Amino acid sequence: MKNKQKNLSTRISFPDDEKTLPWLPLILDAFAIIDKGISVAIHEHEKKFKTRLACSKGCGSCCRTHKDIPLYPLEMVAIYWHAIEKLEQPLRGMIKKQLLSHKKGGTCPFLLDGACSIHSFRPIACRQFNVFNSPCSEGEDPYHTRRKDVLTPLEKYTHQAIAVMLPFYGITGEAAKAHAVKSGFIHTQVRVLQSCDWTELARRMDDFNFGTPASHGG
Ligand code: SF4
Ligand code: SF4
Repeated sequence: MKNKQKNLSTRISFPDDEKTLPWLPLILDAFAIIDKGISVAIHEHEKKFKTRLACSKGCGSCCRTHKDIPLYPLEMVAIYWHAIEKLEQPLRGMIKKQLLSHKKGGTCPFLLDGACSIHSFRPIACRQFNVFNSPCSEGEDPYHTRRKDVLTPLEKYTHQAIAVMLPFYGITGEAAKAHAVKSGFIHTQVRVLQSCDWTELARRMDDFNFGTPASHGG
């Protein structure tokens, strides 16, 4: 599923695109905050419980097992943008094929050869799902089978990341952001990744002419 990062991560950046797409730095900042929070939480969990992270690149049974990965509108926009404007062949063609054949409720269409094909743009929920001790068995959801081996993300970082994204939803100003974080506003916006109609993304990937800006959305 994941390319687990144990060290504090650095923010990826697209300097030219970030100048013209106001939402892009928001999601990139949010991802960086989440990744940092996960790194800290993994370190603390390993030290406290004297265990090791089991997740590793190519270990993707969680991507097949989970059927209800939350996806927020800004994450959707970012995935659209990345897939439409940045993915190159042959990956582009392979993902497009999976998007076209994706059935609602089926396996995540971005899982390719056991790895996440949109790793830098994978949703926060995917970043935050981490398991210790031993890799998940095929079909196992360790949240139910061994909750103690599933990382509990640090709320502080999750709240920071949510606050950073809020201007995308028209929420600005520290007081308004603090209220929105506390009231769980973001959860009213959520969709389920596996239940989205991804054929629309495949169509837009087809339509895109490199060199011409595209519109984004889900
Ligand atoms: S150990 Fe489980 S949660 Fe971690 S990458 Fe493997 S299948 Fe996913
Ligand atoms: S986006 Fe899909 S393939 Fe990528 S980590 Fe999440 S569930 Fe796995």
